[in-house]
Amino acid sequence: MARHKEVKNVMEDYVWELLPEVMKKYPHACKCDTCLADIAALALKSLTPKYVVRTNGEIISKTLDLPQFTVSVLMELTKAVEAVLKHPKHENNA
Ligand SMILES: [Zn+2]
Repeated sequence: MARHKEVKNVMEDYVWELLPEVMKKYPHACKCDTCLADIAALALKSLTPKYVVRTNGEIISKTLDLPQFTVSVLMELTKAVEAVLKHPKHENNA
């Protein structure tokens, strides 16, 4: 059955959008796919999800970019970067 509606956590978009900003402050941090995905996942765990329903392919206008909201995403991302820096998972796979 084809689904025409999609439930999406827009928080994911924010995390990925703000991640490069946070990584700029950590030039020595590993930026491999494993670490970046790990950082995003960790940050998302601590952030309240914001779900929207959208029709296939529809672009959701970003109505959530309140300053305080951005600040909490940046804060959780910073914590996540530091956690991953201390215990990078990629070493297990290398
Ligand atoms: Zn890595």
